[in-house]
Amino acid sequence: MKIIKIDLHHVDLPYSGGVYTLSGGRSYTSFDASIVRVTCDDGTEGFGESTPFGSTYIAAHPAGTRAGISVLAPHLLGRDPRRADRINDAMDHALAGHNDAKTALDVACWDAFGRSVGLPVCDLLGGSTDTPMPTISSIYAAQPDDMRRRVAEHRARGYRGHSIKIGALDSEGGPALDAERITACLADKRPGEFFLVDANGGLLPEAALRLLRLLPPGLDFVLEAPCATWRETASLRARCPYPIVLDELAQHDEDIACTTAHDVADGIGLKISKTGGLTRGRRHRDIARAAGLTVSVQDTVGSGIAFAAILHLGATIPPRTLRCILDCQDMVTTKTATVAHHRDPDGGVLPTNAPGLGLDVDQSVLGAPVATWSA
Ligand SMILES: [Mg+2]
Repeated sequence: MKIIKIDLHHVDLPYSGGVYTLSGGRSYTSFDASIVRVTCDDGTEGFGESTPFGSTYIAAHPAGTRAGISVLAPHLLGRDPRRADRINDAMDHALAGHNDAKTALDVACWDAFGRSVGLPVCDLLGGSTDTPMPTISSIYAAQPDDMRRRVAEHRARGYRGHSIKIGALDSEGGPALDAERITACLADKRPGEFFLVDANGGLLPEAALRLLRLLPPGLDFVLEAPCATWRETASLRARCPYPIVLDELAQHDEDIACTTAHDVADGIGLKISKTGGLTRGRRHRDIARAAGLTVSVQDTVGSGIAFAAILHLGATIPPRTLRCILDCQDMVTTKTATVAHHRDPDGGVLPTNAPGLGLDVDQSVLGAPVATWSA
């Protein structure tokens, strides 16, 4: 089984909630997806997606994703998509870094592998736990009452985890505003709910410590990505009473290894396009399990194709360490695919036994490819 053709599609994904605001004055209204289709010599196809969160979230941006795919794609023609580690070796040999570009190709290979053998990708990754997974909301930074209202809306729709964005500039209200945001969002917390307070690397240790001292006692949350650098995070870690989870800092294999070696955090946000795809995501999952780190399986953002990869990797993580998964397709208005999955009355989700990633891709939404490579 060999890859004989790779198509690259470009799809705009408007944000479903209007304007998304993050720490540091960053805002987003639409996202730009790169979607890859691999075609094999036996007719098997596979799809993968990579959608950066704009160009200011991590060192990735949509035009760079497509440029990276154009470097990588010729090196995968003629290769067997089922040999995932060898596919990644070939990509690493052709291009250093650029996890976002590698993701779409890696995920498409896993989808093709699953379709070719009639098994869901979660089985190829070790098997589903068959335990419905809670989904997490993404509550962008705004006024406290507005954020509390959006948490309640998501709660009513079955979300059991909530990611609360903070990181106000001093000119916006600083630590006092962030403390009000956290307090408001947790005011209606229900048993079994899980809260991540996510600064997206926007706080210096000084601001984070001021913020934490303004909070009332008894709030139950973990602090995600408080600071932008390892030094800042380690400094805060030594003085922070809340568990810390890493996100933007946890991208490469060595980041996860260093997190455990230096005990910098208690968990990671495993975002598939940040990590480089399912092959590396599988490795990060296993390092985290060995180290006793909790994991949230997410992506930077994305449509149904990205959600399918989240769904299948998340399903292989034991419930004890899996905090939640992100239903990223709910964050955008463009529907690229129908994703086979079960959703229970309490909001828990699981993949089905449909082969590959369980995708039914809408070709009319993908449109004509912007580039094609063939053997
Ligand atoms: Mg985060």
